[in-house]
Amino acid sequence: MIDLHSHTDQSDGTFSPAELLAEAKRIGLTALAITDHDTFAGYDLAVPLAADLGLELVCGIELSTKLGGASVHMLAYFPVRPPSAEFREWLLFLQESRRDRNRRLIDRLQGLGVAITLEEVERQGRSLTARPHFARVLVEKGYAKDIQDAFDQFLDEHAKGYVQRQEVPVDEAVKRVVAAGGIASMAHPIRVAKNNWDTLAEYVGSMSRSGMKAIEVFHSDHTPENVAYYQSLARRFSLAETGGSDFHGGNKPLISLGTGLRGNLCVPDSVLADLKKAVA
Ligand SMILES: [Zn+2]
Ligand SMILES: [Zn+2]
Repeated sequence: MIDLHSHTDQSDGTFSPAELLAEAKRIGLTALAITDHDTFAGYDLAVPLAADLGLELVCGIELSTKLGGASVHMLAYFPVRPPSAEFREWLLFLQESRRDRNRRLIDRLQGLGVAITLEEVERQGRSLTARPHFARVLVEKGYAKDIQDAFDQFLDEHAKGYVQRQEVPVDEAVKRVVAAGGIASMAHPIRVAKNNWDTLAEYVGSMSRSGMKAIEVFHSDHTPENVAYYQSLARRFSLAETGGSDFHGGNKPLISLGTGLRGNLCVPDSVLADLKKAVA
């Protein structure tokens, strides 16, 4: 069993890299990719620990990009060689755009009469500050009853506190990943165009023309019908398949590492071998 999509507390998960690896070992994963948002901090901390545990650790990251008006999450993997120094430097620019979003989000919330500060929220995070950290402070201060309620009331795309983040164009992100020695995969396609399969096929076609070479077929949010359709897209555009749980620990308590939502996930081991071939 393998899992190629997981988050640590260095982005918006709740498990430290050491806790995540211990869980991977406990459930018998043979390979794990850490794909934190915008940072390799969790992966970097996990490298020596994974070696001790005899677990194959794959370097990954998740980037927020835009394609036309749509937000598209993109996974990037570096299964053969480490990402270039130039790519790591580019991440600093992405992290700055996230800080800018956070400042605007605080202004917006304060305008709604919510008395929280950026300092309080930043204290919740490690390498970067994400929306679950805002949610936790909103719950602590009694503005929401739990994390989900905080998102519904304030933080989700359709909620009153939402502010848009400056996202990089998807073709630029793909090109940077490829130049850095990695492979780009469209993350959880179910969230990109819901069940509008024709729109999704257009997006996948356009991203593959930019150099994207994989698509996340297996994911905790995907039904068996979704998986079958994404596999057909993979064949149509000659893409490798990727997959993982999108584990976030306590921030998404129903999702388990390796097995997804109530056991709906099983990523074949062959996926990683094929990914290595596709990047080489
Ligand atoms: Zn995502
Ligand atoms: Zn994710």
